[in-house]
Amino acid sequence: MTTATNGSRTAVDDAQGHGRLAGPPVSEWAAAFAAYAPAPESVKVEIAPAYGAFINGRFVETSATFETVNPATEAVLSRVAACGEEEIDAAVAAAREAFPKWAALPGRERGKYLFRIARRIQERARELAILETMDGGKPIRESRDVDIPLAALHFFYYAGWADKLKYAVPGREPKPLGVCAQVIPWNFPLLMAAWKLAPALACGNTCVLKPAETTPLTALRLAEICQEVDLPPGVVNIVTGAGETGRLLVEHGGVDKVAFTGSTGVGKRIAKAVAPTKKRLTLELGGKSANIVFADASLDQAVEGIVQGIYFNQGHVCCAGSRVLVEESVLGEVVEKLKHRMSTLRVGDPLDKNTDLGAINSRAQLDRIEHYLGAGREEAGGFWQSPGDVPTKGYWCKPCLFEGVQPSHVVAREEIFGPVLAVMSFRTPEEAVARANETPYGLAAGVWTDKGSKVRWVAKQLRAGVVWMNTYNRFDPTSPFGGYKESGFGREGGAHGLMPYLG
Ligand code: NAP
Ligand code: MG
Repeated sequence: MTTATNGSRTAVDDAQGHGRLAGPPVSEWAAAFAAYAPAPESVKVEIAPAYGAFINGRFVETSATFETVNPATEAVLSRVAACGEEEIDAAVAAAREAFPKWAALPGRERGKYLFRIARRIQERARELAILETMDGGKPIRESRDVDIPLAALHFFYYAGWADKLKYAVPGREPKPLGVCAQVIPWNFPLLMAAWKLAPALACGNTCVLKPAETTPLTALRLAEICQEVDLPPGVVNIVTGAGETGRLLVEHGGVDKVAFTGSTGVGKRIAKAVAPTKKRLTLELGGKSANIVFADASLDQAVEGIVQGIYFNQGHVCCAGSRVLVEESVLGEVVEKLKHRMSTLRVGDPLDKNTDLGAINSRAQLDRIEHYLGAGREEAGGFWQSPGDVPTKGYWCKPCLFEGVQPSHVVAREEIFGPVLAVMSFRTPEEAVARANETPYGLAAGVWTDKGSKVRWVAKQLRAGVVWMNTYNRFDPTSPFGGYKESGFGREGGAHGLMPYLG
């Protein structure tokens, strides 16, 4: 076995010649926490046949329910509550009633609850990781080493802010906003719940959270954790649903603040609905991020970073490096190395800890990806997909790329949200920057070069909320994340992440 390290990730070649992404794209701090959770594959996770919504500290049954399936097997895992007007009214009322008491608690006391939630996430980490992987299709190694540890870290981090808010906003007495409606996506279900809940609660707000339709199960476990730590009823409410639930929640008159992560289309609809009201709004939307490789970069590291950038979590990542811009003089070499590396990625059973790419999250998402593959084949050509078979049941897409893509092509412009890379080239740094910025989005970017001065110059020119240097998809609760242009507004993470929850 040979091992090569590249700063953030470790590539391992085993005896069969398979390569795999071995290290998680998290900080060493997060990695240290991962050590708390031994191999999760051995844990049997109990999944009830049905789950109610979590309102005012209790699980509440609804007459309407919907299925959540395992996208790797198409097996139904459970039925969950389809919340309608009645449940949304009840959840918002519970949050309203809980708000004054929660806001009046000394920050130190609120912080204690958040610390307890963080600890319980760690203690139940194996179970949460397995559940996340079963419900959403992502590789267990990613749930175990990235999603769940980072979710705990977000609660730890914001627990620390709860009694220090006046230092976050010097010169004035910060106040919570009230009831927060939070709608989250299916790509990092528990982690997005943590991104939304932890800062809101630290600031003294109460919350009604709506998990994504295809991945409600870990949010419902988080509801159990809220019960276990005796969080006062109504401070966190979790309303599952499909179809109308998100709209009913954000349009509810008893809501003071809306936070949404998801598609730009839905984000625009929410912005319109909220515009005539006094509600505060933050949006974290789509992306079409550029990963820029200069000829002077370490190309092996850059290839690892390209793979990490687009194939992590099957490409279901809002900041995925879905456009790679390679300096023309090394284009051929980079593409050859990339194809070689892609051939070593294992696609299959998400519960196998050697799997690199798991299942596509849903039938609908697979259809969307396949639509783009068709459009790309017609327009751009240069299609290449890694070899090998995929299971017959479930939703799968092997890692693939398009070569010779032009900025006008659909696969260069639109968010695909799958393991699909658009390869483009450039001749000068100015051209790289112009191409990278030639998008309605502005969420993230990556720069690969040996020259520090070049990194700084390029990073300044890029209209992107996050710019990674010689790495990609690294997350940490202390650093702000968010977009420019149609990628949304407002920041999550770090001290900046408190601002959208304070008045
Ligand atoms: P979506 O269309 O953005 O929907 C996400 C959530 O928004 C759903 O849970 C839905 O809940 C809710 N929703 C829909 N209409 C709403 C409204 N008018 N007001 C409030 N909430 C509303 O995401 P999707 O259909 O799952 O995925 C579509 C595409 O979105 C993907 O292909 C990808 O490009 C992008 N996406 C981006 C991210 C990201 O992190 N930026 C994450 C996931 C997906 P209800 O059905 O209950 O109303
Ligand atoms: Mg599911």
